[in-house]
This record gives sequence, structure tokens and C-alpha cells, in this order.
Amino acid sequence: MKRTRILVAAALAATLALAGCGQEGAPGAEGSGYEPAVAQNVTVEGSPTFQKMQERGRVIVGVKDDQPGLGFRDATTGQFSGFDVDIAKMIAGGLGFSPDQIDYQVVPSAAREDAIERGEVDYYVGTYTINDKRKQRVGFAGPYYTAGQGLLVRADDTEITGPQTLQGKTVCSATGSTPIQRVRDQNLTSNIVEFQTYTQCVDQLINGQVDAVTTDDAILLGYASQNPEQLKVVGETFSEEPYGVGVPKADTAFRNKVNDLLQAAIDDGTWQTIYDGTLGKAGTPAQPPQIERY
Ligand code: GLU
Repeated sequence: MKRTRILVAAALAATLALAGCGQEGAPGAEGSGYEPAVAQNVTVEGSPTFQKMQERGRVIVGVKDDQPGLGFRDATTGQFSGFDVDIAKMIAGGLGFSPDQIDYQVVPSAAREDAIERGEVDYYVGTYTINDKRKQRVGFAGPYYTAGQGLLVRADDTEITGPQTLQGKTVCSATGSTPIQRVRDQNLTSNIVEFQTYTQCVDQLINGQVDAVTTDDAILLGYASQNPEQLKVVGETFSEEPYGVGVPKADTAFRNKVNDLLQAAIDDGTWQTIYDGTLGKAGTPAQPPQIERY
């Protein structure tokens, strides 16, 4: 499993590099072509979130905008694309809303629980790991994907090969993320730099101000493929990061509905279509995870 991820990394980087994505625009900037089916006459009994969406006539989805292949905003067209964005569109469609009825709200890792609790987003799809701590404040549908923590370093680095080689090195990650917490919990290094976004970490890595960026492999692969001359993903993944759709904690009806939509997308091949058009562009097969209802 872990080995596969590294091979996927290499394959994805190679494919995107061949496609010339490093030069013009970012990988994942172009849409996947996925067109969600828009359901008619949808009801979600007892869901305040759905009621709010219906009254508004629009959906507010929390996303990332700087994670190519997952959640990425094209600076020229303003279009959002990626695996998470297509999952968000699929869910909106299942709730009766077309893609042009979606408003994307960019929310960084550290602000997700706040944004969901305050009702600033209806739901959140953005590399959001399901865990018990977060479940105290928000609900999670899914998981719809499983990533794993990895390391991004400069292409010419030969010293960092895995988490045990980080001692004395400066590692960067996003505030409020599970990977930065793991670096602390496991004392992988005491030199930790944090920013709101991973893009800021990647800039620091390229400039030589930090030695490694750590977060989910799926995110790091996107950065490496944007800039294969300067960046590479090294070592095996060292955690499991099950991605969930963040929803208001008390709205069980809404969480159940999103789980139903994810399950239907897995069963009818939509999940596969979305994966193949985004993260799976390297051609490496992936299995959808088991939906966990609680
Ligand atoms: N999946 C991890 C998390 O939820 C890292 C990616 C992120 O920060 O979104 O914290």
C-alpha cells in the first residue's frame, strides 16, 4: 500500500511533467470535464443546513484553492478544479444544485471548524482528515479518500529520506493540520515553521528557508508535479489520513444524506470518473474507501 503511493507519486510527477504542466498553468488548473447530475425535487427531512441552502438558492462550499489536483483555483479563469472540487460538485448535484449555483469559500486548515460551526459554509471538502478531536466540533461524512503523510524536499536533497531523518532539519506545515501535530507528537524535529497554507511552505522550501514540507502525499505530489526540477516527494507515507466532508455537527440528517450521495457515487462509478479525471490522471488505479457511518 505504502509502496504503491510512492510509485503513484513518481508516475504522477512524470505524467504531469510530460504534459508540460510545469511550464504553462498548474496541473489540475484545467477542469476534469466532470459534469454532475443534478437531482430534482430533493428533500432532506430535518436538516437545517439543507433548509438554509434551499432558502438561499445557492450552496456555499468550503474548499482549498492552492492544492493542485485536489482544490485549486486558476488565477486566470477563477475556476475551481480538482478531486475535492468534483466531490463537492457531485454532492451539490445530489442535493439539487448545479455547479453554477455553488459559491466557493476558501478556508485554510486552521479555520475549518470555526467556519463550519458558524455556518459560514454549508459543507467543506478540502483534504480534511476525519478524527475524534475534530468530531467534537464538526460532523464528517465519508471517508471518500485515504491519503498518508509524506515529505516534500528540494530535488537535490540527499539527506532527508523519511520521518526519522528530520532531526535538526527545519520542517514546514500548515497551522491546525494533522501532519504538523504528528511532527510535534513524534518529536521528529524541534525546528517547525508553520503557515496558513502549504503554498507558503513550498515557497520557503524553494528559497532554502526550510528543509522539508510535510503534509498528505496527495497534496505534496501536486506541488512536485508543478515544479519537478526543484521539488521531489521522498520516502513512504507514515500515517493514514481519511478525508471526510465536514458538516455541521448537530445536522445528522445532512450528514446521512451526504453519506448516501458518496455511497451512490462509489456504487455507480461516479467516484471512479472523478478520481480518473483528477488525482488518477497518472493512470494508477485507486479504490474508494469504505463509508463509515456513525
Ligand atoms: N489532511 C490533513 C488535515 O486535515 C492535512 C491536509 C490539510 O491541512 O488540509 O489536517
